[in-house]
Amino acid sequence: MKISNIKVIVTCPGRNFTVVKVETDEGIYGVGEGTLNGSELAVATALKHASELLIGLDPHRIEDIWHLMYHHAYWRRGPIQMAAISAIDMALWDIKGKVAKLPVYQLLGGKAREGCLVYGHASGGTHEQVVDSVRGFQHRGYKVIRVQHGGYGGPGAARTLPPHRPGIPGFKIFEPVPYLLDTPRMFAHLRAELGDEVELCHDVHEQLTPQQAADLARNLQDFRLFFLEDPVRPDHKDSFKLVREASTTPLAMGELFVSRWDCLPLFVNQWIDYIRIKPQHVGGITEAKKIFTLAEPYQVKSASHGARDIGPIGQAASIHVNLTIPNFGVQEWSDFGQQEKEVFGDGCFYHDGYAFPQEKPGLGIDINEAAAARFPYRKAYMPLVRREDGTMHVY
Ligand code: MG
Repeated sequence: MKISNIKVIVTCPGRNFTVVKVETDEGIYGVGEGTLNGSELAVATALKHASELLIGLDPHRIEDIWHLMYHHAYWRRGPIQMAAISAIDMALWDIKGKVAKLPVYQLLGGKAREGCLVYGHASGGTHEQVVDSVRGFQHRGYKVIRVQHGGYGGPGAARTLPPHRPGIPGFKIFEPVPYLLDTPRMFAHLRAELGDEVELCHDVHEQLTPQQAADLARNLQDFRLFFLEDPVRPDHKDSFKLVREASTTPLAMGELFVSRWDCLPLFVNQWIDYIRIKPQHVGGITEAKKIFTLAEPYQVKSASHGARDIGPIGQAASIHVNLTIPNFGVQEWSDFGQQEKEVFGDGCFYHDGYAFPQEKPGLGIDINEAAAARFPYRKAYMPLVRREDGTMHVY
């Protein structure tokens, strides 16, 4: 079997997704995803460039092709390069599963559980609205729920400045003090209304300094969080020492990490409890499985990032890996809309607090190219944040 063609597809059935279809001379093909929110076309260009190297290779040699992709760029890693590797790697596992006539999770060692525990996103403009939102998720069977007052930053992010010209996003305003005061009050209200048993997590979204994050983790300790997510910026791993030593609040980190080298300091020091990497950004199924194995002896569990920019193919790759690893923790879950289903069909599905893959050979997800063409790429940018005085919020 040889790789005969690689199609790079960027489609926007609601939001942009960067997808590959790796075709073989035997008619079997695989699909993979390398969506990088805000940089979808950059990944597509990297994929088109690397594809020339892969034509004629045996798609079963996944490990070898991974290293070819990793080393051909010479300047290694970086989110664009790693997302491109991720897309190809997923597609090769999809092909291998189709040839073997087995779901990918079977090729990774088989199920270590029946389904993947997931968490959904509750939020509201007031503490009472957050309670109502949590109850809605509980009613739908969710066991773990992320809670945010007013999105990221709560009352510290109440305003958005208009953009300096039309067609680009405005700047959100964030002030840390209102946020630091409000968040423990929100949790006190939630525990008073909802009791102690429901599992609640919260995302700081890397908006705090290490000292502020340590202060927040300590002030939340009595509310028994499932985890406090992304407490500080991803650049300074050593900052976690201060946050860790301030409290026993469990910590989750790593949705912006793109390689094992980002994760290792947090593992070996046992500074976090949950690692948020997913196949879509770290180099696919091959590398995600390795990173979770690296985490295992340090008692770090998975909590894979699964926001809406992790598309149906990336979501499937994540569920297949997470079904098989012993140190699974939880999976962030997003439902997709009707347009996304038109393009990708039925992928992984939610039932009563858990996610499941399709019981089909490969990843159990596909792309309808004609449907994808009906939803062309739309220019989009990530939101940015400034302080009240206009300073760019460097967090
Ligand atoms: Mg996050």
